Amino acid sequence: MMLERTTGVNPCRTRGARPARRAGPCGRLDPPCDDLADLAEREAARRRPGRSGEALNVIVIGGGQAGLAAGYHLRRAGLDFSILDAQPGPGGAWLHGWDSLRLFSPARHSSLPGWPMPRYPHAGYPTADHVVDYLAAYEKRYELPVERSTRVRSVRRVDGGYDIDGRFADAVISTTGTWWRPFIPAAARGLPGRQLHTAHYRNPRQLAGQRVVVVGGGNSGAQIAADLAGHVDLTWTTRRPPRYLPDEIDGEALFDIATRRPGGVGALGDIVAVPPVREARDRGLLNPQRMNRHTLAGADTVIWCTGFRPALDHLAPLGLRDRDGQVRGEPRSHLLGYGDWTGPASATLVGVGPTARAAVRTIADALGVTARR
Ligand SMILES: Cc1cc2nc3c(=O)[nH]c(=O)nc-3n(C[C@H](O)[C@H](O)[C@H](O)COP(=O)(O)OP(=O)(O)OC[C@H]3O[C@@H](n4cnc5c(N)ncnc54)[C@H](O)[C@@H]3O)c2cc1C
Repeated sequence: MMLERTTGVNPCRTRGARPARRAGPCGRLDPPCDDLADLAEREAARRRPGRSGEALNVIVIGGGQAGLAAGYHLRRAGLDFSILDAQPGPGGAWLHGWDSLRLFSPARHSSLPGWPMPRYPHAGYPTADHVVDYLAAYEKRYELPVERSTRVRSVRRVDGGYDIDGRFADAVISTTGTWWRPFIPAAARGLPGRQLHTAHYRNPRQLAGQRVVVVGGGNSGAQIAADLAGHVDLTWTTRRPPRYLPDEIDGEALFDIATRRPGGVGALGDIVAVPPVREARDRGLLNPQRMNRHTLAGADTVIWCTGFRPALDHLAPLGLRDRDGQVRGEPRSHLLGYGDWTGPASATLVGVGPTARAAVRTIADALGVTARR
C-alpha cells in the first residue's frame, strides 16, 4: 500500500508541502478554504511561545520497533513527523533483556516492513544484540528522524491537534511499549528475600549459590527457569501446569495463528518451546510447583515473571476510556505495539507492520491525504 496526497480537489489540501489540517468527516476542511483570517490565526497559534518550532503532521512517541515501523509508513505516506524516544540509543526494550535472550523465530520471520532482518550468522535464532543492530540499521536506512533522550511526559489535546510537551502535531502515535512498567503482584509484599522482576534478570552468575524461586508459567518464566536450571537451587512455580505449545511452533507459526485463528495463540498454549526450554524440559530440569507463600518466603531471591503493563502515563490527560489501539473517536491518536489489543501480533517484530500501516492510513485519511494501494 502506498499513501499519496489528495490533489486537485481543494487548494487547502495541497498547501505547501503538507496536507491540509483537520479534514472533517464529509471532506470539508477546517478551517474552510475561504476563511483566510481564521487560517492566519491558526498558523499564528501554532507558533505561539512555548511551542518549539514548526508543527508536524505526526509525532511518534517511542523509538523501539513499533515507532520505527510507524516511521516507515509515515515516510511512505509523505507525512512530516518526528519520533521522540526516551533512550540515548536505538533498540527499545531489546537493549534490556537477559544475556541469553533469543528470538523465538529465525531472522527471516522477524522483519519490520520494507527491509528483512539480515541473516543471523551463527547457530540458533538471533540474539537480542542482533535485533538491536537491525533496528539501528533500519533507522539509518530509512533516515527516520528519531530524537533521543527525549521522554514525553504528557500529551494534551489543543485546537487542531496535540501538544506533546510543548511540541505540536496534527496526530500522535504512541509506541512506548511495556518493558518500562514491570508488574509484580501484591503477594511479593513483605517477603524476606530479594524480589526481582523479569526486567531485572541478567544471568545465573548474578544469583550464584542462592535459593531462587521463579514465578510464572509464560514464556519469560519458562526461559528464565531454563536459564537458571542446574546453576542455582531452583524452584519454578506456576499457577497451573505449564502449557507448552507444540515444539514445531515458532515465531512464524505464532504470527499466523495470532492473525488467523479466533482466540489467537492462547487457546493452544502459553510457552513457545524454544531450544533451551525444550532441552531443560526434556532433561527433567523444569519441574513446576504450585505457588505457595512458604516456598516464596524460603527464597533468597524471587524472580517475578508476571508480565508488564502498557507504559501509558503520558497519555493520562487524554482520558483514555478504552484500549482498542485508537483513542475512542480520535482517528488521529493511535496506540501501537503493547499487545494484541492494538492489532494482531502488533507487539512482535513481524506483526507490527500491518498495524502501523493501518494507523498511518487512518491518520492520512483524517488529515486529508488519500491512500493508494
Ligand atoms: C522476553 C521477551 C521476549 C520476546 N521475544 C520476541 C520474539 O522472539 N520475537 C518478537 O517478534 N517479539 C518478541 N517479544 C515482543 C516484542 O518484540 C518486544 O516486546 C518489543 O520490544 C516491543 O516493541 P515496542 O517498540 O512496542 O516497545 P519497546 O521496545 O519497549 O520500545 C518502546 C520505546 O519507547 C521508549 N519510551 C517509553 N516511554 C517513553 C516516553 N514516555 N517518551 C518517549 N519514549 C518513551 C522506550 O525507551 C523505548 O525505546 C519479546 C518480548 C519479551 C518481553
